[in-house]
Amino acid sequence: MKTIFITGGAGYIGSHTAVELLESGYKIIVADNFYNSNINSIENIKKITGKDFNFYEIDICNKAELQKVFKDNEIDAVIHFAGYKAVGESVANPLMYYRNNIDSTLSLLEVMQEFDCKKLVFSSSATVYGEPEKLPLDENCRLMTTNPYGSTKLYIEGILKDLYTSNNEWGISILRYFNPVGAHKSGLIGESPNGIPNNLMPYIVKVANKEISHLNIFGNDYSTKDGTGVRDYIHVIDLAKGHVKSLDKLFRDESCLDVFNLGTGNGYSVLELVNTFIKVNNVEIPYQIVERRPGDIAECYADPSNAKENLKWKAELSLEDMCKDAWHYIKKN
Ligand code: NAD
Ligand code: UDP
Repeated sequence: MKTIFITGGAGYIGSHTAVELLESGYKIIVADNFYNSNINSIENIKKITGKDFNFYEIDICNKAELQKVFKDNEIDAVIHFAGYKAVGESVANPLMYYRNNIDSTLSLLEVMQEFDCKKLVFSSSATVYGEPEKLPLDENCRLMTTNPYGSTKLYIEGILKDLYTSNNEWGISILRYFNPVGAHKSGLIGESPNGIPNNLMPYIVKVANKEISHLNIFGNDYSTKDGTGVRDYIHVIDLAKGHVKSLDKLFRDESCLDVFNLGTGNGYSVLELVNTFIKVNNVEIPYQIVERRPGDIAECYADPSNAKENLKWKAELSLEDMCKDAWHYIKKN
């Protein structure tokens, strides 16, 4: 049985991936400093799966603490989720983003090298495509970033490529996520941002729950199907399954440096998401159209064919499932 070390495993995508890995027969070790999560998700991963695992409350930037994890456990591969992810905050405080996202990755890679663990899955983002060169976006599209958060992802991708060039015994899978939404069917784990959310789905959920009076839709004058922004929303469970497939491939291959888009290939507009949410959950979402949000792009969706062909993975859950499961999680919590 292979053992996977998950950094940031108490977070939104990490906790769902932990569940999928345990259910697919992997052993896991999880680390998180609870900067953007709490102990409940660790307990709930155990509750959902009925399985136990070691958890370390550590900062991934801290090499000594990481070395202890690698000394205590035989680790076969790592999935590196730990990082800060709020675009607006990264614009306001870029040094904090560069320090945490890049330092944690460098510390992790150095310790992995020291312990001869050379298989890594890294959480990148569709944000590395910046203003899309063409649609749908494939992995060879031009890369550019428009904010410090995106730059941390692009720089880390560069670090990983350089590392592989220096020693091609590494097996590295760079996963570029599109827009993860939804939650585990149990309602025990999901996305719960503190304060006022920046992203669309968590915002809609708070409006439906009457914590916020209405949704502001940022612009209806884009050249899209109905004028509102279009994104490739992907259910977090499908995304988590993509990580399992990506690890399976790392264990099959001698070595590799792969890049995969993880998206559905479908673009939905803000209005389509809002209307689907209203319909499947039978709730009200008052909204008003306001100015475009600075830095937003009109449209972004994936060409997921590389993952389909080489990971044998494809997103299966619908926009309806995403809306239902996001709402179920909030109602339960
Ligand atoms: P999240 O904030 O829910 O999870 C990240 C976890 O990492 C949190 O639990 C946080 O406490 C932890 N963490 C942060 N810095 C740490 C450190 N130095 N040491 C230990 N733990 C640390 O975010 P998420 O949505 O689960 O995202 C996971 C990864 O996927 C991130 O790298 C993010 O940038 C990337 N990503 C997310 C999205 C998205 O929309 N959610 C899209 C593309 C890429
Ligand atoms: N959006 C919106 N109101 C909000 C939050 C987001 O209209 O309160 C729109 C945004 O302009 C974009 C889409 O919803 O077109 C998705 O935004 P999100 O921040 O979730 O993802 P990203 O823009 O980072 O892909």
